[in-house]
Formats: sequence, structure tokens, C-alpha cells
Amino acid sequence: MQEDSGNVSAKEDKKPTLYVLDSTALIAGQTDFSRKEFVTTPSVLSEVMHDESVKNIVEVAIDCGQLEVSSPSEDNIKEVEKIATLTGDKFKLSRTDIEILALALEKSKAGMDVTIISDDYSIQNLARRMGIKTVGVIHPGIRKQITWVAYCPVCGMEYGVSNLNVCAKCGVELKRRPAKR
Ligand SMILES: [Zn+2]
Repeated sequence: MQEDSGNVSAKEDKKPTLYVLDSTALIAGQTDFSRKEFVTTPSVLSEVMHDESVKNIVEVAIDCGQLEVSSPSEDNIKEVEKIATLTGDKFKLSRTDIEILALALEKSKAGMDVTIISDDYSIQNLARRMGIKTVGVIHPGIRKQITWVAYCPVCGMEYGVSNLNVCAKCGVELKRRPAKR
């Protein structure tokens, strides 16, 4: 199907990885645009731009040329739909998901080293079937974000995220502990 001639000298020189972002990746907001190459689809943008903080980050990344916005060809969309039907993932994938996968397929066919960043299981599953790498959004190291609360060791009063150093009631120095979820 695709031409595999010429440059099959795998791992000879490292191509820079192109990261394809889905909505979960952009909403998580942990993407460091300054360090890598990123691409996403217009459909993903339309899903996330209502969030003001995501919008700001994304617009800057696009302006700086760190995030490319691109639509996959209809041929690649059909190819992904065909594979999704075979794997049984089709009904779990939205049009946006299909486009993300099609864009990854397209860039991969163009000879790029592609990785999809997504927490969506069906996207990960289908990408694997197509030989495209994926990585989850939430890294284990930052999965648990700790919120600290200040509390009085004498009366047990909790002060949340205040700037107080001593208990207003007892005058005792406050201690800190991770907030219970
Ligand atoms: Zn107290």
C-alpha cells in the first residue's frame, strides 16, 4: 500500500518525533510546547477552545509555530474507519478521534516519527493496530496532585489555603498535611 523503498535504514539517524494531540491532551494542559513539535486537527481545537486557559496556551503555541493545525485527507479518514470497523472500535470513536488517527497515519506515511498523545483507550488501541505509537496524557508522577491544608495541632481547626501561620483560636503554630480527597 505505501511505498517502503529507499530509506528503510531504521534508527540510522533519529528523526524528531511529531506529537499528535487529541482533546484530552490539550485539556490536561501539561504540554510543553517549547520543546517539541506538535500537530492537531481543527475539530480538536473546536472541542477545547471554549476553555479560556486552554485557548490562551493553544493560541500562543500556534502563533509561535509550535502547534500546527491540519486536517487529514478524506482517503486517510476512510482508511482509519476501515481499520476501526475491523477492530470493533468504530462505534467508540468520534469523528474527531477518527481525524486524529487519520492525521497521525498521514504524517506517518509522510515518513515522520509519529506519537499520539491521548488518554482515550480506543484511540490508543487503534493506533497500536496501525503501528503508531501512543503515550498517555497523565504521567504517573503527576497523577496525584497534592493539595495542602494548614491545621491547628491543638484544636484541629483547618485553614485550607490561607496565609495564616498560627491558629486564630489557640495562637499555636499551624502544621500542614495533604488534603484528603
Ligand atoms: Zn487551634
